Amino acid sequence: ETGQILCSLLAVDSSGGFVAYADSTAEGKRLVAGKDQKETQKKKVVVLGTGWAATSFLKDLDISTYDVQVVSPRNYFAFTPLLPSVTCGTVEARSIVEPVRNIIKKRNGEIKFWEAECLKIDPKNKIVFCRSNIDENLAGNNEFSLEYDYLVIAIGAQVNTFNTSGVLEHCHFIKEVEDAQRIRRTVIDCFEKAVLPGLTDEERKTNLHFVIVGGGPTGVEFAAELHDFVHEDLVKIYPSVKDLVRITVIQSGDHILNTFDERISSFAEQKFQRDGIKVLTGHRVMSVSDRMINMRAKSTEEDVSIPHGMVVWATGVGTRAVIKDFMEQIDQGNRRILATDEWLRVKGCEDVYALGDCATVDQKKIMEDISEIFKAADKDNSGTLTIEEFEDVIEDIIIRYPQVELYLKSNHLFDVTDLLKDMYGNEEVDIEGFKLALSRVDKQTKSLPATAQVAAQQGAYLSRCFNERERCLKDPEGPRKFRSGGRHEFRPFRYRHLGQFAPLGGEQAAAELPGDWVSMGRSTQWLWYSVYASKQVSWRTRLLVIGDWSRRFVFGRDSSRI
Ligand code: FAD
Repeated sequence: ETGQILCSLLAVDSSGGFVAYADSTAEGKRLVAGKDQKETQKKKVVVLGTGWAATSFLKDLDISTYDVQVVSPRNYFAFTPLLPSVTCGTVEARSIVEPVRNIIKKRNGEIKFWEAECLKIDPKNKIVFCRSNIDENLAGNNEFSLEYDYLVIAIGAQVNTFNTSGVLEHCHFIKEVEDAQRIRRTVIDCFEKAVLPGLTDEERKTNLHFVIVGGGPTGVEFAAELHDFVHEDLVKIYPSVKDLVRITVIQSGDHILNTFDERISSFAEQKFQRDGIKVLTGHRVMSVSDRMINMRAKSTEEDVSIPHGMVVWATGVGTRAVIKDFMEQIDQGNRRILATDEWLRVKGCEDVYALGDCATVDQKKIMEDISEIFKAADKDNSGTLTIEEFEDVIEDIIIRYPQVELYLKSNHLFDVTDLLKDMYGNEEVDIEGFKLALSRVDKQTKSLPATAQVAAQQGAYLSRCFNERERCLKDPEGPRKFRSGGRHEFRPFRYRHLGQFAPLGGEQAAAELPGDWVSMGRSTQWLWYSVYASKQVSWRTRLLVIGDWSRRFVFGRDSSRI
């Protein structure tokens, strides 16, 4: 059973033929039956998207063994963590994007790119239907379809308005490069409008009220950027209205940055208070109109309305329409987000992988399996295990789910027998107590964040799996993919959290790094500069970004409305 669960990505059958999934016999037959005709052909891999997950997948994929086609409506990769800086001109939009054809060129041009949007996925016939978003006046048909042997879906997510009335019509988003450019123009518009003759002070004040909905990292970083832009640059060129500017952050939870360590959260709140950025916690936005934003205080149920000049909606992300349609076809229609197994294979669908923000690893089965392992070990149904039995159980769980080991270790839970004995005495271990701890594992793994870090790691992981699979196909008699202990070479995807940053403006940032290490202040901002410079995808963008930062230090930000 262990083998079955662990070896599902790849197996070599007894005749030496390649079977894609050990647990999918129908597929195995199909591939083996088609082996002769297909042997000389490269497998067709269609990749949807050119974001974090897709580019990380493409970067290391062995393209000599696959025929790779990439489809995306954006012909570039965007370094999203710097989007808030684009909104205020701290860095220019072109400095954070890398043309996808440059990335392809580095792979000797063997990857084909089609600038188009995938409109529909047909998993039964293994076809994706696409439409080019290039001007319809040009000659030729805009629609086409592509067949695939393997499909890699990495189309990210879309903004989530939570069906709040007026948001689509009256709010700005920070999701795409175009959004950031639009925000930059609108900020300047607000100032230009506020200095026009004939306005009352109240009208000027309304035009200069910038409201940010969402106190997560994106909302907070934008608020900080905007504050710096206004106070370092704009007040000098619009001195007559400098005292009328207000920035408000609306957060439905009790604190901003609530996914960060408490120390960071309160540091950010105090800094915003000192900077005059108003933080309105415990308020839920009910509707937005062209001039007003209406909310309800969670504690008093009281309705509050405030006038605004501009609203930026920076809350969570939602599922794209093409994914919803795909989910309906594969019996995942009742889910909120596309589920994959731990090898990133879409559940209920063969040869389709999904990674990044558009999917989530389904953890329900993990907890069910763990419960089963416990039940099987608790032979006398007493609800307790001896230390030895417990150690066996843990080993079994960790073989199946290595992320459990990571979690337990990082929380100093059960990594050594001595610790166990400390906690449970010398004789027996209480199953329920342990299950409680595991429910924390469940919570932690379920809430794998929708971040570039996760997407990039998933892309790298999947390309490794693809490369190994083809090596095995070429050399079926080569080293078997099983270790003596029964572990499979293809471990499930494991996320390694490398920490997170929150730039807070005024050359200060906060960082939460592995090992519960928290750092805040100016030195952390320099750490942020170095990490983000080093993470750029090319030397070209690295130099452009560093150039933009230096230009901003010397000349300030550009306030032209172009
Ligand atoms: P994306 O990077 O969004 O890429 C999706 C790709 O799919 C795009 O190329 C898109 O054009 C394409 N696409 C869309 N629809 C279709 C379609 N129908 N057919 C084909 N292609 C399609 N994460 C961090 O780890 N650290 C940060 O500091 C950070 N800061 C952020 C700041 C902002 C402002 C934002 C918006 C996000 C930030 N994130 C950060 C989150 C991070 O950007 C996302 O988690 C990451 O982009 C997800 O990668 P992805 O590949 O799944 O999707």
